[in-house]
Amino acid sequence: MELTSILAKAEKGEQLSREDAVALLHTDNTSSSFYQLIAAANERSRRVFGNKGYIFAQIGLNAYPCSGNCSFCSLAEKHFVVGEHYEKSCEEVVAQVREMETDRIEALFLMTTADFSQQKFLEIGRAVRGVLDKKVHLVANIGDFDEKMAVQLKEAGFDGAYHIVRLREGTDTQIPREKRIATLDAITKAGLDLYYCVEPIGPEHTYEELADEMLRAREYKVNMMAVMGRVGVPGTRFADSGEITELELTKIAAVAGLVTAPGKSMNVHEPKKMPLLAGVNQLYAEIGINPRDTSEKTEDNRGKGIRETVKLLEEAEYRVEKRK
Ligand code: SF4
Repeated sequence: MELTSILAKAEKGEQLSREDAVALLHTDNTSSSFYQLIAAANERSRRVFGNKGYIFAQIGLNAYPCSGNCSFCSLAEKHFVVGEHYEKSCEEVVAQVREMETDRIEALFLMTTADFSQQKFLEIGRAVRGVLDKKVHLVANIGDFDEKMAVQLKEAGFDGAYHIVRLREGTDTQIPREKRIATLDAITKAGLDLYYCVEPIGPEHTYEELADEMLRAREYKVNMMAVMGRVGVPGTRFADSGEITELELTKIAAVAGLVTAPGKSMNVHEPKKMPLLAGVNQLYAEIGINPRDTSEKTEDNRGKGIRETVKLLEEAEYRVEKRK
């Protein structure tokens, strides 16, 4: 099907097929069709999201060698490349949350490596919930878990969880895809909101692989969708494998917005300006460690803070509300 027919289908609110998604992803980034595509994605986002912009903040709680062994991650135990091992105490996390400008954030993510104690995570979650504005969504970004843990997360005050099947899960990671899918099922069964992302995208991934994850997110009725390019972290297996360009990421974000059709937000990791033209209305502020960084304080290195991310969205004329 031609690009204009696929975009017309999307405009009518019809679901796009895997074939449609792959065709859109094949759009030449230097063609005028590219601008038709990003215009359609931008129009949908502005209309469906009411021109609202959102900041999600994320705190990395620990930096330990992780048995998940994702070949692209700075924390994998087979090549751990972060300066120091650390784990924040519950008191430190609570103090950090108290210091944050939470009146500008919509959601707070707490992130750990896959082996972090789930009981300890629940304790920290309860303590954070105790000091966090009730209107801010609390989101878990942790390893795989079962239905019992999903219910415990909910009881501890979590509203949602970030969880995905990574590209080439089980090949570029040591985690079976089935395990990831079982956790996705546990999340939705417990009534937690699912935050999804197509990641980490490298030049070797096929458009079919990307389309499959966009459709998976739609099957789970994801309202908060994202795409992320892989960063060639020095010391990891992908250090010299190349990265996709910002223009390519912008196109992928546009297609994900149209194919998954989230109801609340569309994001790119890490914060970038170009994708804001293609329907991206949500950015992350990050504190502590993140898998794309070798610094244990990403806010001093790759990560951006709350003020900077608010400014980026406002420059794109998204309205980031300040809570009273
Ligand atoms: S991406 Fe997550 S699961 Fe994989 S190695 Fe890094 S911390 Fe572990």
